[in-house]
Parts: sequence; structure tokens; C-alpha cells
Amino acid sequence: MEEQKRTEIGSLGEFGLIDRLNKNIEIKNPSTFKGIGDDAAVIESGDHVKVLTTDLLLEGVHFDLSYAPLQHVGFKAVAVNVSDVAAMNAIPTQITVSIALSNRFSVEAVEALYAGINAAAAHYGVDVVGGDTTASRSGLVIGITAIGEGKKETLSYRSGAKVNDIICVTGDLGGALVGLQILEREKQVFMADPNMKPALDGYSYVTGRQLKPDARMDIIHELRELGVVPTSMIDISDGLASELFHISKASDVGVTIYEDKLPIDKQTYDNAVELNMDPITCVLNGGEDYELLFTIDQKDFEKLEKHADVHFIGHVAKPEEGKHLVTKSGTAVALKAQGWKHF
Ligand code: ADP
Ligand code: MG
Repeated sequence: MEEQKRTEIGSLGEFGLIDRLNKNIEIKNPSTFKGIGDDAAVIESGDHVKVLTTDLLLEGVHFDLSYAPLQHVGFKAVAVNVSDVAAMNAIPTQITVSIALSNRFSVEAVEALYAGINAAAAHYGVDVVGGDTTASRSGLVIGITAIGEGKKETLSYRSGAKVNDIICVTGDLGGALVGLQILEREKQVFMADPNMKPALDGYSYVTGRQLKPDARMDIIHELRELGVVPTSMIDISDGLASELFHISKASDVGVTIYEDKLPIDKQTYDNAVELNMDPITCVLNGGEDYELLFTIDQKDFEKLEKHADVHFIGHVAKPEEGKHLVTKSGTAVALKAQGWKHF
């Protein structure tokens, strides 16, 4: 018998696997303006465009119900999809919600999940317009698809960054990863001795960043009001370095960022040090902050200069200059994208 070739998924990684599958996908409809490869697909619809994105969250992989309340899981499942719509510079309008449940879950538990989904739908102004419900043999699975609206001329792709553009990030980074480490630590303590109360005082900022991220639709609306269209944009789900790699690859450019410009909250910094984690590594490689990373033309700098929550962390370079982090001591080190490896 001829042996079939077997390639381990781990040898390709998530992005390698998607690239390989994408090679055999053919676009047939002229309305498909942009398929695989960005935060959302883009579909032409009259004088507007629709953006379309989907994300799957699995219990035990993406969330742990021993410390994540179901309401928060529901909110986060919506927020991560809205974040991908935001990353296209579009406005979310509808979502569908699919769930798979084992008999471990009661009706009240599903209602708690939906309380979070409905709260997020209200917060982002989206309508829940459908979904699917099915049985699962192990735990909870949530799949959300979001659709949004934008204009062709004002969408932001990963591929639009130009040499000398300014690299911007919103909010602060690393908190969600540090929060996850704290929650995991307290879970281990609790499992070893269920009489121990989790010691979460002093960690509320980072645990909040992990459990209830907020997609930055506020920034999308503000950019619109200021008349700024990012030349490229991506949301930070896998970590700043990994997302910079995506922009660099899609735009065929290099990037230079500066350590002393990277935004980190004081609590995140202190908690990271306490956990023996390097705060800058948390900022560069921590996932799930759901902030926005974008580039702007230099002419737009003035319009954003005074924005309290937008940080200018570096500039776009020529492709041959590569991807670098300039440390506080002035040394340029090659950026490494660790990201999150699921396989
Ligand atoms: P994001 O982190 O912004 O959600 P991903 O890294 O998950 O983006 O996906 C990158 C691109 O690959 C997106 O265009 C997404 O739609 C596409 N993609 C991911 N998984 C698959 C798949 N199994 N089949 C087809 N396209 C996929
Ligand atoms: Mg994304």
C-alpha cells in the first residue's frame, strides 16, 4: 500500500496553513473585492462595501470557565469580531452567533452567556440576526460572524503602509497576557487547595484586560471625525510584533519601532515584574489586547498629535531595512514575532 504523505500542522503554523489552503481557493464573484488575507473580507455592495469576519472561541483553548464568567466570555466573543471590523476602518452592523453546548450547561448558563453577547451588541450598536445551536461533546464553542459597512476609499488594509509613514498604536499593551498569567496562577493555587481564596487584589487592571477587552470602535469614530484614514491597519490579537510582521509582509515594507515609545500601563509593568516576566516582551508578544496598530501619512500627524490614547511608536522603513526595535540604549535589534502558537 502506498503511504500517504503526512505533514504536521505544527510544521506550517497557523499562518502557513492558511496560506497553503488559500492557494486552492478561487474567487468567482466580481463582488468579492478582497478575500483571505486581511482582518476581514471586503464585499462590494452598491456604492458601499461590506466587510465580513468570523472568529471561533473554544472552551479550554480561548477561555477557561473556571475564572472567566460566562457574561464576559459572551462580551469578548463579540468584541474580538468587532475589533476585526474596526481594523478595516469600517462600522459593524450585524452579527450571527453560533454555539455548541454540552449538557453540562443549563439554560441559565446560556442566558448568562447571552447577557454578555447582548451587552456587547448594545455597546457596539450591532444587531444579532441569527446563528446556529448544536450539541457538543466537550464544552462550549462560540462562533461569531460580524458584518460591517465602510467606503471603498476609506477602508484600511494591512497592505497600505508606505515608507516614512508613522506607526501608531492605541491604548496600552501587554496587559491581557499578564492578566492571563495571574488568572492561571490563582487557578493553580485554588486547584491545589480549594480553601484558598484567589488573591486578585491589585491585579484588577490586567485581569480586566484579559477577561473583558473592548474593541476600539471609539478610535474609528474619532479618526473619522478628524479626517484621518490610516494607510494600513490591523488589530492586535496575536501581539504587536506579530501584527507588525503582517503589515510588513502585506505592504512590503520594513518597520522601526522604539522601545521608549511603547505604551505599557504601570500596573501591567509592576505585575509583569512581580511575575518575573520582562514587561517589554509582554508588550511585544502578548496577545489579546485588541488595540489597533495603524500607520498614518506624516501629513496627518498634526491631527492626531494631541490624542491622549494614540501613541507614535516608530516609522515605516524601506523593505531592505528590515524590522527593528531600537532599545532604550539606542541599539537596533531585529524584531521577532513570537505570537501565539496553537499547534
Ligand atoms: P485575525 O487574527 O484578524 O482574525 P486570522 O489570522 O485569523 O485573522 O486570519 C487571517 C486571514 O485568513 C483572514 O483573512 C481569515 O479570514 C483567513 N482564514 C483564517 N482561517 C481560515 C480558513 N480556515 N479558511 C479560509 N480562510 C481562513
Ligand atoms: Mg485581526
